[in-house]
Amino acid sequence: MTVEGVEITIIGGGPSGSALAARLARAGREVVLVERMPTWRWRAGGVFASPAAVAALRRLGLDGPSLGRIARPIPAMRVETRAGTTFRLTYGADAGGEPAVGFDRSQLDPLLLDLARAAGADVRPGWTALGVDPGAGRIEVRGPGGTEVTVKARVIVGADGLRSIVARSAGVSRASRLGPRLGLTYHLPDSDQAPARDARMRLIDDGYVGIAPVPGGRVNIGIVLGRSWQARVALDGATSIAESIVHEIPPTAGDRAAWRDGRPSDAIVGAWPLAQRVTRRAGARWLLVGDAAGFLDPFTGEGIHRALVSAELAAAAIGAFTRGNRQAFGAYERSMQRRFLAKDLVSWIVQGFLARPAAFEYAARRLAARPGPRSTMSLVMGDLVGAGRALDPRYLAALLAP
Ligand SMILES: Cc1cc2nc3c(=O)[nH]c(=O)nc-3n(C[C@H](O)[C@H](O)[C@H](O)COP(=O)(O)OP(=O)(O)OC[C@H]3O[C@@H](n4cnc5c(N)ncnc54)[C@H](O)[C@@H]3O)c2cc1C
Repeated sequence: MTVEGVEITIIGGGPSGSALAARLARAGREVVLVERMPTWRWRAGGVFASPAAVAALRRLGLDGPSLGRIARPIPAMRVETRAGTTFRLTYGADAGGEPAVGFDRSQLDPLLLDLARAAGADVRPGWTALGVDPGAGRIEVRGPGGTEVTVKARVIVGADGLRSIVARSAGVSRASRLGPRLGLTYHLPDSDQAPARDARMRLIDDGYVGIAPVPGGRVNIGIVLGRSWQARVALDGATSIAESIVHEIPPTAGDRAAWRDGRPSDAIVGAWPLAQRVTRRAGARWLLVGDAAGFLDPFTGEGIHRALVSAELAAAAIGAFTRGNRQAFGAYERSMQRRFLAKDLVSWIVQGFLARPAAFEYAARRLAARPGPRSTMSLVMGDLVGAGRALDPRYLAALLAP
């Protein structure tokens, strides 16, 4: 077996891994990124992102024309309850800010990997991490054609998503407190080819469906199903369940929803369980970014934005570590907490409402009728203001008072 010495090894070439590789390589670090997929293919993941994620991509160096190709503007997310209440979250676009977007992941992910390559990172598609010893800085990797290599790295980064091998090997991975849920995603041809149009988030019994317009005249379907669906999914299969749920979605006034009956343009793929909980995001010589560092639920906007921000914070921490700062990874852990603790609390409160349809309906009616609290909620959900704003008792009173 070949043994290779590397300064930094990143496992996973999704948005968090490639953004981090680009940043580190630009700073002159020696980076190897291993990505198990030889070429990009659709896998369970999300596309809807607030303007905060677009801003993070700009900070990474994506220019306007590139963003225009990979993202379709979404003026608002229309939330629809089972009782028929609707409200629109605009993420600041109605006050002159830029809109949310739906990403074409078949373009976004390869573009970010190209960015990493262009910066000088050694990007290896088709390479799978089979075993990791985070404490010793050792990774067993299988490359294309079955070549097995032992990589010895000064720093190991887990950017490997919901079932991170790095998190599991470091012993920090735990079951989600939300319980096991299934996430299903795929694309359908859009029946409305408008350059920009609203997304929808429709609550269903013990779950919800997100419908987000993306480039290429398609809509992305994201379905999240709670525990009570487990038996039906086992009996009928995820594809048939997804198709029957989507078929039941009623059209809105401006959309005949002809997309409901289109043929999926890619496989209906699932993530099970749809969550990642870790007790720590970093150790002596390893750290976790993106979903590997924790993922609760896409309803409140976690996902692509957090992947990109964690890559920024990790790049700073690894830079400090390589300059001799042994506290740098502890500081990364704390900076992730500072950045996301309040948003996590808001997400948990929203999950509490989602689990009680009558309570969600109560809050939804007030959000629909009260523009001020609705605007704040959309800025918080979009990571555009500190999430502490939604935890302020005065805000909660303004939102929830009868
Ligand atoms: C159903 C669903 C809906 C979602 N909806 C949204 C949404 O609307 N908006 C949003 O922002 N986010 C959403 N998300 C989350 C979003 O997709 C993720 O947060 C984002 O992709 C995280 O990026 P990442 O780079 O951390 O992980 P990923 O994109 O998962 O990338 C991880 C990479 O690691 C690779 N990998 C894994 N194991 C290994 C290994 N052993 N060796 C080598 N490579 C490996 C994988 O192949 C993959 O390419 C959703 C997720 C799901 C499942």
